[in-house]
Amino acid sequence: MVGSATESVLRIGVFGGTFNPPHMGHLRLAGMVRERFGLDRVLWIPNSRSPFKTGAKLADAADRLAMIRAATEGEAAFSISEIEIWQRGASYTVDTLRKLREAHPDAAFRLIAGRDQLPGFSRWREPEEIVRRAPLIVFPRAGYEQAAAPEGFEKYVEFADTPLIDLSSTDIRERIRAGRSVRDMVPPAALEIIEERGLYRR
Ligand code: ATP
Repeated sequence: MVGSATESVLRIGVFGGTFNPPHMGHLRLAGMVRERFGLDRVLWIPNSRSPFKTGAKLADAADRLAMIRAATEGEAAFSISEIEIWQRGASYTVDTLRKLREAHPDAAFRLIAGRDQLPGFSRWREPEEIVRRAPLIVFPRAGYEQAAAPEGFEKYVEFADTPLIDLSSTDIRERIRAGRSVRDMVPPAALEIIEERGLYRR
């Protein structure tokens, strides 16, 4: 399935996340994956609230959108979808992929995610349908070196040979709260928004 796309087919990498805030890891990995897997476009899809992250302090949708826009500006191959972010409650990847298929009937989709997502993947809604619609590209993530594809999903998971980037939004939020610098961790244009709007200070 992965190799069946012809040259003219639009190849779209679907990159979902909370992006609370977006960080240099997101940006660098999305760029590398696009190049290495010959994707035409990486579609960033910020979610309203992850069904698995119910406790973390979440910046407003408008703030996260502004940060992602600022972080990805000038990258012609990156676009942002608002398909999930304004939804009330949790959004599910499988529903998003169905909507994307309607919008792009002929595109070939890949779902891109960090390796930390693999252990819980079989608990996502309709995981078989997800990988059928968008086989996974997985990048290495600190602490998850051994995480394997869930049983039965192996052939739908491809590991990207990208460097390990030890950054997380959680760590960045904690640093800001503690008054420490996050320069070099967050794209400068997104950092400006964090500072201007006083995000994550408490
Ligand atoms: P948090 O710390 O709040 O859980 P996060 O840093 O994991 O956030 P998300 O917005 O949840 O960021 O990430 C979106 C996607 O990017 C997920 O698939 C996640 O696995 C992946 N990802 C984020 N940071 C990295 C990283 N440093 N290396 C590899 N993958 C990453």
